Amino acid sequence: MTAKRLRVGVMGGTFDPIHHGHLVAASEAASTLGLDEVIFVPTGQPWHKKPVSSAEHRYLMTVIATAANPQFNVSRIDIDRPGTTYTIDTLRDLASQYPDADLVFISGADAIAQILAWKEIDQIWSLAEFIAVSRPGHVLELPEAPEGTISVLEVPALSISSTNIRSRAEEDKPIWYLVPDGVVQYIAKHQLYRGNK
Ligand code: ATP
Ligand code: MG
Repeated sequence: MTAKRLRVGVMGGTFDPIHHGHLVAASEAASTLGLDEVIFVPTGQPWHKKPVSSAEHRYLMTVIATAANPQFNVSRIDIDRPGTTYTIDTLRDLASQYPDADLVFISGADAIAQILAWKEIDQIWSLAEFIAVSRPGHVLELPEAPEGTISVLEVPALSISSTNIRSRAEEDKPIWYLVPDGVVQYIAKHQLYRGNK
């Protein structure tokens, strides 16, 4: 008898900081698509932007935000790999770590639009199934992809971005209820986003 293959979601992001928009998207994808697990993968050095906080702060905030959910896990593969993070490397590393799983890459409406800029785009489609989740304020523009490789998923609309949370923290405005409580406390404890100290 062959064992059932696992379906494992992969949620990449800068997570600077992680917020409820990310968590709702992952939770909705897990439930709708019948995923066994979702792995959050904080990026190392993204090719398109420079994170404000260190990889270690972003990793720890992601761990704090996901710790209570038995289906959520966090991987260090991107932050531990030197150099720029490319999604193809993330997927190749995860595929070898999870040989018995089918990978499902979850990405927001804005991020999937950058898919064509990904390294070795032609080879990416065989590594995972791609899910573009709806995101308020962003029009979903699907890149050209082989038939059946990208699907769209409507998730509860939370108009939250890390950029907005960083400005709120810098201006001393409340960030409660936009990010999990533990993340509010972690940001305060380490004085993150205060004039990029
Ligand atoms: P920043 O403003 O720094 O770019 P962000 O809020 O866009 O931060 P990212 O870490 O860039 O967060 O996003 C990681 C992934 O989560 C991306 O695929 C992004 O599209 C998706 N995402 C982020 N916020 C939301 C949201 N509110 N609803 C749905 N998807 C989201
Ligand atoms: Mg973003």
